[in-house]
Amino acid sequence: MAKRLFIKTFGCQMNVYDSARMADVLAPLGYGPTDRPDDADMVILNTCHIREKAAEKVFSDLGRLRKIKEARAAEGLPMVLAVAGCVAQAEGEEVLRRAPFVDIVLGPQTYHRLPEMVAQAARAGGAVLDTEFPTEPKFDFLPEARAEGTNAFLAIQEGCDRFCTFCVVPYTRGAEYSRPAAAVLAEAAALAAQGVREITVIGQNVNAWHGEPGWDLGTLLTALAKIDGIERLRYTTSHPRDMSDSLIAVHRDLPELMPFLHLPVQSGSNRILTAMNRGHDRDQYRRLADRLREARPDLALSSDFIVGFPGETDADFADTLALVAEIGFVQTYSFKYSPRPGTPAAAMEGQVPEPVKEARLAELQALLYRQTEAFNQACVGREMTVLLDRPGRYADQLLGRSPYMQPVHVRAPGQRIGDVVRLRIAAVHPNSLEAVPA
Ligand code: SAM
Ligand code: SF4
Repeated sequence: MAKRLFIKTFGCQMNVYDSARMADVLAPLGYGPTDRPDDADMVILNTCHIREKAAEKVFSDLGRLRKIKEARAAEGLPMVLAVAGCVAQAEGEEVLRRAPFVDIVLGPQTYHRLPEMVAQAARAGGAVLDTEFPTEPKFDFLPEARAEGTNAFLAIQEGCDRFCTFCVVPYTRGAEYSRPAAAVLAEAAALAAQGVREITVIGQNVNAWHGEPGWDLGTLLTALAKIDGIERLRYTTSHPRDMSDSLIAVHRDLPELMPFLHLPVQSGSNRILTAMNRGHDRDQYRRLADRLREARPDLALSSDFIVGFPGETDADFADTLALVAEIGFVQTYSFKYSPRPGTPAAAMEGQVPEPVKEARLAELQALLYRQTEAFNQACVGREMTVLLDRPGRYADQLLGRSPYMQPVHVRAPGQRIGDVVRLRIAAVHPNSLEAVPA
């Protein structure tokens, strides 16, 4: 009988990609997906260490899984329990100390070895810990990616050498690594052959990609656009310091590249940007936004923000609000600063009290919400292309995404999932846009 695998994914798109690849690695061992941990012969928590809250959630989930594992054991049913991802990498020993019923602890760089680990756990009857940074890149050992639906993530770069002072990524994901172009193009072609129409190439600092001598991310995107079936491209997450002239030019020249860019700025205060070691100031970011919009006038920008970074004053925060309004970000992710063990900012003076962080976050999010709303309203009457990717609530209704990632629904008899159609936005609903054929 087939074995059932339940994977819970925390955090970023890279983890979503990694979870899909772990499922691919385990498929030859007979594991197929289930959406209930109670049914699962194997459970993987693919964890995130970026903020304290994300890491703590893992331990509360493990408490619940322990009960399920015990109940299954009482019925003579197995459950292999694995903790993967960045919490495993940063706190592997701690996971085993606090949750000794865990069978496997593995970091983000070793999941190609999962079959060995499963066998080893069965043989040894004790926990297996593998949080190495192996010299051979895991990508060389992964089976062909299986696509689900019309959209796919494709990891082209991993790790980060930027060392922003708040961030754990350089420690949990390791030094920056770029996959060779041939491997990326082969994976994209395989996805396209399975019906994928839109690819988002991902990496912790994706525009630092340098997998081929003489190529940059723009060259890679141009090559990806030539693959039969690929109609739309995106990339995330990029760093303002690594936006090369040629990549900006590709925003002008490549119609497949969607006019929507997530380009985190984190703060609008020069003092705080320096303390964060971001390597750019607010004026450089402004100029970059201008150049991107010159290249692609319909481009919209999205960003990440951290409020309450150590030393952030009311005046610094006011600079952030001003930059948000000036740039006109249409979508954002904003977070309270969370001190992470081992990062320079955690030891900085001037840690901001929690109530101040909360008030600033609420104010920033209110502003960002108004800007998103205004952008959605401004889309009414505009024509745009939508990739239809899901059935809707009604027989003739389909759902899809606009170039700006807005969910769009349309009653379009005769259209099929996977079609890219030109629609006119007719109305804004709380969580989606309504469109009619253009
Ligand atoms: N590489 C991307 C960049 O440079 O912007 C971001 C990667 S990180 C996985 C995603 C977001 O988490 C960051 O942009 C930042 O806003 C947020 N983040 C990272 N460390 C944080 C911390 N210690 N506290 C709060 N938010 C944090
Ligand atoms: Fe973290 Fe992004 Fe800075 Fe790298 S560039 S250290 S991933 S925030």
